[in-house]
Amino acid sequence: MSRGAPAIVILGNGSLNTARRIQQRYPQARIHGLAQRVEGADCTYSDFGATLRQLYQQDTAIIALCAAGIVIRSLAPVLLEKGAEPPVLAVAEDASAVVPLLGGLGGVNDLAREIAAHLAVAPAITTSGELRFGTCLLNPPSGYALGDLELGKRFVSDLLAGEPVRIEGDAPWLARAQLPESQQARLAIHVGSAERTPTANELLIYPRNLVARVCTPTPELAQAVRDALHAASLAWQSLACLIAEDTLMANMQVHEAAAELGVPLRFVSPGEQTLAVAGQTLAWHEADNGLALGAAPGPLDPQQIGRVRGRLAVIGLGPGAADLMVPAVKAELARANDVLGYETYVRMAGPFRDDQVLHCTDNREEMQRARHAFELAAQGRSVVVVSSGDPGVFAMAAAVLEALHASSDPQWHSVELEMLPGVSASLATAAQAGAPLGHDFCVMSLSDNLKPWSIIEKRLDLACEADLALAFYNPISRSRPWQLGVALEVVARHRTAQTPVVLGRDIGRPGQTLRVTTLGELTPEQVDMRTMVLIGSSTTCTFPRADGREWVYTPRWYGEKP
Ligand code: SAH
Repeated sequence: MSRGAPAIVILGNGSLNTARRIQQRYPQARIHGLAQRVEGADCTYSDFGATLRQLYQQDTAIIALCAAGIVIRSLAPVLLEKGAEPPVLAVAEDASAVVPLLGGLGGVNDLAREIAAHLAVAPAITTSGELRFGTCLLNPPSGYALGDLELGKRFVSDLLAGEPVRIEGDAPWLARAQLPESQQARLAIHVGSAERTPTANELLIYPRNLVARVCTPTPELAQAVRDALHAASLAWQSLACLIAEDTLMANMQVHEAAAELGVPLRFVSPGEQTLAVAGQTLAWHEADNGLALGAAPGPLDPQQIGRVRGRLAVIGLGPGAADLMVPAVKAELARANDVLGYETYVRMAGPFRDDQVLHCTDNREEMQRARHAFELAAQGRSVVVVSSGDPGVFAMAAAVLEALHASSDPQWHSVELEMLPGVSASLATAAQAGAPLGHDFCVMSLSDNLKPWSIIEKRLDLACEADLALAFYNPISRSRPWQLGVALEVVARHRTAQTPVVLGRDIGRPGQTLRVTTLGELTPEQVDMRTMVLIGSSTTCTFPRADGREWVYTPRWYGEKP
């Protein structure tokens, strides 16, 4: 399996024995136990559903020791695409049953067979074609592509009805399957990269043995590739990848063409020849539209051709709770080779697979971390820099751009750079209190590490004069003990003592606290560096909630009530 070790998830101590037995088979797998219920697990979780969904979205194989129904119900909200899915299995806690549930195209049946063999029981394989023929015809191994899934389903049901089949062309994995072969068969599986319209009763399977090298990109590049293949009587389905020179790494046309053709894009140095790949000789011929087509005798592994464009994503984890992390960020974490950040946040972004490299650094080394991220991405790796909340709010996104701006290295500028947003602490805190930031507001960091205190005082004074609600990040720290007190004096010059104040500490994290108070009551001792301070404007008001706490909101209107 190319993905990392599976996760074994258990709900109680009763499953620990079976979990340990499965772990003997997969020593890298970690046992995830429900907090307060399981003693001796490798790691603990508190929310079963959220944990399963996170593992699933990180493309981790899941072995859940519980009822199949619980697993299905938990994963239901995230079952989007059948194509890219990790294996998910339910195993009875007494080791008597192994049930593959999801990930048919991700090898769940193979995993079920392995586990069942290890536990000395029979796996509950339910995939008919696979049971009968020992292979899933509709899911050819990497290196081969199925012509058409719908035609394929009909073809397989004909086979299951008992018809024999002919195999035309060369596909070693089919030769190993237990297909009812006969030279006179009406049904035929045709394997080859020649362009071909399927005749009735024919299943087409294409070896991915072709490459197209782009010399001069053009706007209609994907179509140009299809045209060139067509002119050479070659099937586009057999295209394994698009190849371009390093200098085109950031070229949009090349990327769009690869995406449209659904193939990976690989880069080579300008003079670099690709005459042989992984022991196979490529036969090249020039097409007349700035393209060259290469054909290998058998399927090609694109990962063995040239290099991939590196990727750097600066992501926001949100305040801390897994369900406040946006799905795009979860997906980014799943694809990362390297994860960089302040240790606390890197831990918060986990769990990680064994193949993912963590680079934990001190919170202050921002520029150094940003440069390190570019160095890794320029090698073709998929790199993630983590921030809490949103990466663009007093966090890593600006540092990463500053590092890039200062660099003249074309490799750094060729990296695919993306910022993925998160729920910032002010917004997460505001939501819990009601809507204190419901009208115009001003976000400030009270840290004078990177800007003079006089600027902070001036901005604060003007923001108060403008009657904006205020959100203070970095309100206080051991090395900045007096600044918050001075800031509150500035605010008190403009606002009454009754002005509502919200203090959110560790919002979205274990032990979070939310406190609603007033400007008159607020003292710096109530605040620490893990606190978000929200101060109302002149229109911010409060009223009691049914549960005894208080709602805080700033109305949408200003001046005369409409
Ligand atoms: N990028 C982050 C902010 C980093 S500055 C974001 O968008 O949220 C760090 C400051 O943010 C802390 O000093 C604290 O004031 C605030 N903060 C971050 N996470 C918080 C949380 N979970 N609860 C309350 N305040 C938080």
